[in-house]
Amino acid sequence: MRPYNFSAGPAMLPEEVLKQASAEMLDWQATGLSVMEMSHRSPPFESILKQTRDDLRELLKVPDTHHILFMQGGATAMNAIIPMNLLGRKGIDPAIDFVHTGVWSGKSLDEAGKYGNVNIAASSSGMHFRNVPVQKDWRLTANAAYVHICSNETINGNQFHFTPDTGSVPLVSDMSSEMLSRRVDFSKYGVVFACAQKNMGQAGLTVVIVRDDLIGHALPCCPSVFNWKNVADNQSMFNTPPTYAIYICGLVLKWLKRQGGVDRMEQASIEKSSLLYNFIDGSDFYRNDVAADSRSRMNVPFFLADESLNEAFTNEAAKKGILQIKGHRAVGGMRASLYNAMPVEGVRALIAFMQAFQQNHR
Ligand code: PMP
Repeated sequence: MRPYNFSAGPAMLPEEVLKQASAEMLDWQATGLSVMEMSHRSPPFESILKQTRDDLRELLKVPDTHHILFMQGGATAMNAIIPMNLLGRKGIDPAIDFVHTGVWSGKSLDEAGKYGNVNIAASSSGMHFRNVPVQKDWRLTANAAYVHICSNETINGNQFHFTPDTGSVPLVSDMSSEMLSRRVDFSKYGVVFACAQKNMGQAGLTVVIVRDDLIGHALPCCPSVFNWKNVADNQSMFNTPPTYAIYICGLVLKWLKRQGGVDRMEQASIEKSSLLYNFIDGSDFYRNDVAADSRSRMNVPFFLADESLNEAFTNEAAKKGILQIKGHRAVGGMRASLYNAMPVEGVRALIAFMQAFQQNHR
């Protein structure tokens, strides 16, 4: 049995996917070629790309009003790509509204500030990012170019459990660490983006879901390869796309369909995260500080009451096949990431280990 990998990303992949990729590595479907070796313009690769896009649309129920783009540069590149593509729609110096809920929305707003006037409409920085501000407390700018949120803060462990209403101003969401883990009504969003290395496959691929009318307004400074119009007009092949990462994403999507799709993943993430939060809340040895209404189902940061035991915790965990459980350096402590590929048995094994560790180190 493989160990349980709690990394926040690059993260655990379904074993079936890794096995299939390995079986197909040297010869994909009797073509005599590895997917890595195929021209991106060849019919086999074009079929892989089309199937991956179609499966994403079907699984996520993306409406016809939105394009699905495959891009590169990770979610970080999107912090520049988004303002460069959206600011051209609105006269001179439009505001960009941000809801600052953690490290990733913070990086996004720093970068966007190079292109436009950032307004922090709401922030939980004063609360150490332990909550998502309720919308009635936001101060949105009328006529802003867009409103940016990070729906799941991978490091701080908070998550939006509501869909903001931004009226006619496009809502942009970084869903890197929650994509495909719950049902989303994409008609409510102007742009959704996610890097693939958490819930969709491997690093190198960024999925962008963008409403059609937001395409075609890029600033003149926008590099051609990052201009959504070029990417959309060329079916994500304006230049060589990350072919192998798209193929792996395609395998993950087929696996997800066999599991029962996004609704099943949502139920499973509620089950997995509730098990872990309930255990932590019932213990005086461990704690999670995020407000109950803002806790992430994907990334569960937690702390040992006695932090001098941190190293012993990670070392002993590794011996039990519980890997990459150390928290992000910005927050410290531990973090358990519960993406789609993590089975409930992995969470039960983690809890059993945490119980035993607690008994042995009191
Ligand atoms: N946004 C979120 C929510 C993330 O979790 C991450 C990666 N951990 C990023 C952005 C940055 O992604 P990348 O490293 O692919 O640029």
